[in-house]
Amino acid sequence: MDIYLHRYLLKLKHHFKIARDERSVQPTLIVELSDGQISGYGEATTNTYYGITYENMSEVLAKAGDTLKDYSFSTPAQLWEDLKDIFHSNSFAQCALDEAAYDYYAQKLGKPLYQVWNLDLSTMPQTNYTIGIDTIENMVNKLKEMPWNIYKIKLGTPHDIEIVKALRKHTQARFRVDANCGWGVEETIRNSYELRKLDVEFIEQPMKADNWEGMKEVYQHTALPIIADESCIRESDVEKCFGHFHGINIKLMKCGGITPTLRMIQKARQLQMKVMVGCMTESSVGTSAIAHLAPMIDYVDMDGPLLISNDIADGVKLSIEGTAFPPRNGLGIVLLPNLH
Ligand SMILES: [Mg+2]
Repeated sequence: MDIYLHRYLLKLKHHFKIARDERSVQPTLIVELSDGQISGYGEATTNTYYGITYENMSEVLAKAGDTLKDYSFSTPAQLWEDLKDIFHSNSFAQCALDEAAYDYYAQKLGKPLYQVWNLDLSTMPQTNYTIGIDTIENMVNKLKEMPWNIYKIKLGTPHDIEIVKALRKHTQARFRVDANCGWGVEETIRNSYELRKLDVEFIEQPMKADNWEGMKEVYQHTALPIIADESCIRESDVEKCFGHFHGINIKLMKCGGITPTLRMIQKARQLQMKVMVGCMTESSVGTSAIAHLAPMIDYVDMDGPLLISNDIADGVKLSIEGTAFPPRNGLGIVLLPNLH
């Protein structure tokens, strides 16, 4: 089998700002896994916070490509296991290849991936639409220009409650908030009571990733469920989050793809924790992989394609009515030819 790499620059519709980062373009890498007849696709974006570049992803994928030259493919999980030593420092590249392997595998079986897993699409959660940090006026405008059922509001400013109050005046939609490590213990507990009055569903990662003591206190006194994101990177973190968070937000690129995500979902369920899967501002390639997992989870954040103006692929489609799967096997992805 062969690996081919395709680079793209995704353009964000709005300059995107969260508590620790901001950007208006997002470089992304599409990995194609091919046996010469069938190609599977997966995606990983570059990420300064995690030190992920095109160069270091290409480097490990070249090593993986050497192993795959005369590899006898059986399952994506086996491939993940056989290559895990190559990828130990680069979960993003590992994720892109793992997604491609699932796409390839389901196409070989002649089914969409959710059918390979016997999932029922009728009960899957709908994605939220993210509103990045901006002036209150601009955040209200972003909400008004995108009528939606569930919004994820990025917080971590000196006037967070004012932001949510202003947005609440314009919609009865479900709200969830993400402080991206921007708050302290008392602030989180205080905000949880204020935000509950504003019909917020949960708070994502209020405090720094390693503040486990603080999280324990928040867990005991919060008025709203708390979901881990930056505190839940890899498989071993799920157990650590138990008793500190009510649920976890799994990012495929941070944990290394679909294979470990399936194990993390299972572990969280055993611990009776809520499960969310989130995206990293990727195209329809990566979010299609998330969509196939969605019937297994409680909440999904896969609005990447809605936030970019130059999606590079046709895949799972998102609208206010819900999620539409294309009538194609695998992940259902087709790279748009003019960009390929
Ligand atoms: Mg988050």
